[in-house]
Amino acid sequence: MVVRFVVDRMLGKLTTWLRLLGYDVVSASDFDLSAEEDDLLLNLTKEGRILLTRDRAIRSKAEKQGMPICFIHSDMAIEQLEEVYSCCNIQLEPKISRCTICNTSIRKARAEDEDALRKKDYVPDRLIGTIDFWVCDNCGQVYWEGSHWDNIRKRMDELKKKLSLKIL
Ligand SMILES: [Zn+2]
Repeated sequence: MVVRFVVDRMLGKLTTWLRLLGYDVVSASDFDLSAEEDDLLLNLTKEGRILLTRDRAIRSKAEKQGMPICFIHSDMAIEQLEEVYSCCNIQLEPKISRCTICNTSIRKARAEDEDALRKKDYVPDRLIGTIDFWVCDNCGQVYWEGSHWDNIRKRMDELKKKLSLKIL
């Protein structure tokens, strides 16, 4: 089974990275918190999600209740990803499959989506009709493999290289 995660509010960048790798990540910051963050996070682990947190109080609660948890030490997103890798053996291949904003699975844009693409001021018009786009039906965010995507791949290649050197 593919691992799924629940993360605390302090791990926003890590959340984005994990979603870029295709992982299902629910964040405490996705919720309007009327409940205590601790309880919310612990409830979400009951869905079979692994808890990622930098919060020591949440860690000790989770450990007492026997919840699956990976405690994060670093405050740098890429190092945090490395910690998740050590803990849960995640794969580090970026793929356009999940909305980094709302965690919904995204779908390839079709011809009838072109008008909606043109309305997004961050989508370069010249690219529409020439490359593949993906659309989030939940929040409307549009994705494509632009130059930012080269940077994402590069960061993951660097991390993979670092990890393989470690194994040697
Ligand atoms: Zn979305």
